[in-house]
This record gives sequence, structure tokens and C-alpha cells, in this order.
Amino acid sequence: MIENNNIAFRFENSLDFALNEDQIDALGKYRGEFWIPKQSGGKESIYLCGNSLGLQPKNTFSYVNQELEDWKNLGVNGHVKSSNPWLSYHESISESMAKVVGAKPIETVVMNTLTNNLHLGMVSFYRPSKKRYKILIESDAFPSDRYAVESQVSFHGYNPKEGILKMKARENESLIRWKDLEECIEREGESIALILLGGVNYYTGQYFDLKRIAEKGHKKGCMIGFDLAHAVGNVEINLHDSGADFAVWCTYKYLNSGPGAIAALFVHERHAQNDDLPRFTGWWGHNKKTRFNMRKEFDSLSGAEGWQLSNPPILGLAPVKASLDIFNKVGMRALRAKSIKLTSYLEFLLDQINDERIRIITPSNQWERGCQLSIQIKKSDKKLFDMITDEGVVADWREPDVIRVAPVPLYNSFKDVFDFVQILQDGLKRI
Ligand SMILES: *Cc1c(COP(=O)(O)O)cnc(C)c1O
Repeated sequence: MIENNNIAFRFENSLDFALNEDQIDALGKYRGEFWIPKQSGGKESIYLCGNSLGLQPKNTFSYVNQELEDWKNLGVNGHVKSSNPWLSYHESISESMAKVVGAKPIETVVMNTLTNNLHLGMVSFYRPSKKRYKILIESDAFPSDRYAVESQVSFHGYNPKEGILKMKARENESLIRWKDLEECIEREGESIALILLGGVNYYTGQYFDLKRIAEKGHKKGCMIGFDLAHAVGNVEINLHDSGADFAVWCTYKYLNSGPGAIAALFVHERHAQNDDLPRFTGWWGHNKKTRFNMRKEFDSLSGAEGWQLSNPPILGLAPVKASLDIFNKVGMRALRAKSIKLTSYLEFLLDQINDERIRIITPSNQWERGCQLSIQIKKSDKKLFDMITDEGVVADWREPDVIRVAPVPLYNSFKDVFDFVQILQDGLKRI
């Protein structure tokens, strides 16, 4: 459930205050477990782009190296004899991953990449009929999701123009209102085959109440899928309890597993043994006991594992394992608690700038956002963004006028946030 009341903090607009917060921060020590990119002068940059590509944990190197060593020394025998036997390597990761998203291990598998998994999920859960063939998405859904959805609708012989419903914010507003979303599902529900929404919208940072959407959609007979690329590792997701039919996410954003890292798929337990669901199959989704007999008919594994196609890329999974070991040590609850405070501090400082050109489009309700704030700078072009980049800020620019910043609780500090706002303020004076 999304709560209504914000936690009130007593913040101060001073470097001393920020430094003191870092001192008393119980998670502050984890910053040292990451490589913080340096500016050209050798100073650490102010990295606020973990929503796009998370930083490298220092332990990643040894996890990958371990597998290279085992491969070097054991060859094919590494499948069973390496320190983390490759045959079952993905299983231990599925368990850690399940904890991060609030799912059961049987509901979670780490495989492929996000858009691949989105297609595999839709193969099973987008089953259009003449009466019910639409997919509901956000109008500003991530481009890859839009393309994937369009191609699925066309693939089934429907016209994307009619087959895709786009949930829009109202005129002159940036966020989707609950009332509008629920009314849309109520009105169009019987023609919607699949509701596919982002958990946290990549552009606005709006975090949706997944359970509320799933309940509403299921009442109307729709299937529910979530793209959690910007939610996982960022907010506490109770994916099992949400009741979603399937979900997908990548691991290179908040999960710090490296560029293009291996992604994940969630399939709700209620579908674990459902052999009637159509799916695309491969040998790694087949019963482990008879997988190597090679001549048997397909016998699907129970749960999300049954959606696997290929034997997993161990060198790609090692960084995921390295990262999840940190997440499991810290726990999403503690991370989220720090995250709420850190982002609220950013919001507090931005409000203090007191400049009419600035508007935060992300919800001000702490429970309706993750760590990211999307800052609209009216009448600005990319000049301001280039200025702050020159000063060592790594953030993200979205045309026409939005800067996205994501203070990540695992490695960003209150000082990062303070320094960023100082630099932004100086930049504003110069444009
Ligand atoms: C990052 C992101 C993607 C990227 O997809 P890949 O298949 O990993 O390239 C897709 N959808 C959303 C919502 C994202 O945030």
C-alpha cells in the first residue's frame, strides 16, 4: 500500500549539516565498497546516475575472476566442480534476487536481458482475442517497452493504433492520476488483454502502487505485467503480494551489475505449474533430471525457471551475484529508509533555491517515488546541464528540459547531494 503521510525531517542547508548526516549514517560505510568514477583532476565525481548505470562494486572483479580461474583450471568439469558449480549457478542468484523484489524463489529467474524477457513474458501473458486484444501502457513508457508492445500487437495481427492504449497525464500535468488510471481500467477493462506498466516511471520517477493496479485489472479480467527496471533495488517491492502475473527488470541500473547485465523475470506462483500457458521454450527450461537425455519431450520446470532458454552465461551472472550479495547484506528496508531521507534532503535543498524556473516533476509524496527526482528547468536548453557536467556532476539529461538525478542510498552521500545543489544553483545564476 502506498501511504499518504510523508516522514518529516529537520534539515539544514549547510555543508556541516550534510557532513554530520554522513557521519551518523549507518549505511555510509558501503560507499567504500564501490568504485566512484573520478573527474579529470582526480577528484571523485558527484555520481547521480545510478538510475541509468549503477557503479561497480569492488568485489565484482574477484567474482568474475573466480569463474575465469575455474574455467581455466577445470574446463568442462567446472559445471559441477567449480567453487560455484555452473549447473546450478543461477539458482543461488534467483534466491537473492527474490529477496530484493519480495518474491518467492520459485517465482524468480535471472536470465537474458530485459526486453527479451518482456517478449517472453508477453508470449505467455498477452493472449489477445477479438474482444480483448489491447495492451495498456503509460504514454511516456520507455521506448523499448513501446516497441516491444507494438510488435507483439502486430505479431498477433492487430493494429497497434487500436491495440495500444496509452495512459496519459492530464494536460499541463506530468504525473498520472490514480483516479484517471482506475477510471481507464474500469472503462476499457473488458477490451484490455494486458496491463503493462513501469513500477517506477523512468522519466517522472512516479512510483505506482502495484497491488492496487493488479487488483483493479484482475477484477476486469486483464493480465498484469510490470517493468521494474527503475523500481528494483530502489523501492521495496512486494512482488508476490502485488499479485502481478509477470514482471521483468534489468540489473544494470540500481542493481549495479554492469552494462547490459543479465536481467530477470518474475512469474507469479499461481502460474508455476500451468502448462497451458503458451511459451517459447529451450532446454534450460526443461526438467533438470532428464535435461541431458536430450530426446525427451519438453517437460517444463515449475516456476519462473521453466521460462529459461539457454544455459546461462556464467561470466555475465558473476557480477549479478557480487551485487546481490551486497543487497542481501544491507537489506531493502534499510536502503529504502536511507533513500527516503537522502532524496527528501535533495528536495529540501532544491526548494531553497527559490527559482521560478525550477520545478520538480516527481511526486512530492515520499511513497510515490523512489530515489530519483526529475527536475524541469524551464526555458533552459542543455547549457545548464553541460555546465554542471563540467563541474563534476554525472546526471542525466532528457529533452526538452529535464535533468534526472538519483541519489543512490548504497553509495551516495549527503555531501554529494549538498554539492550538487550548490553547483546547480551556481549554474542557474549563469544562464
Ligand atoms: C532501462 C530500461 C529498459 C532497457 O531495456 P534493455 O532490454 O535492458 O536494453 C527497458 N525498459 C525500461 C522501463 C527501462 O527503464
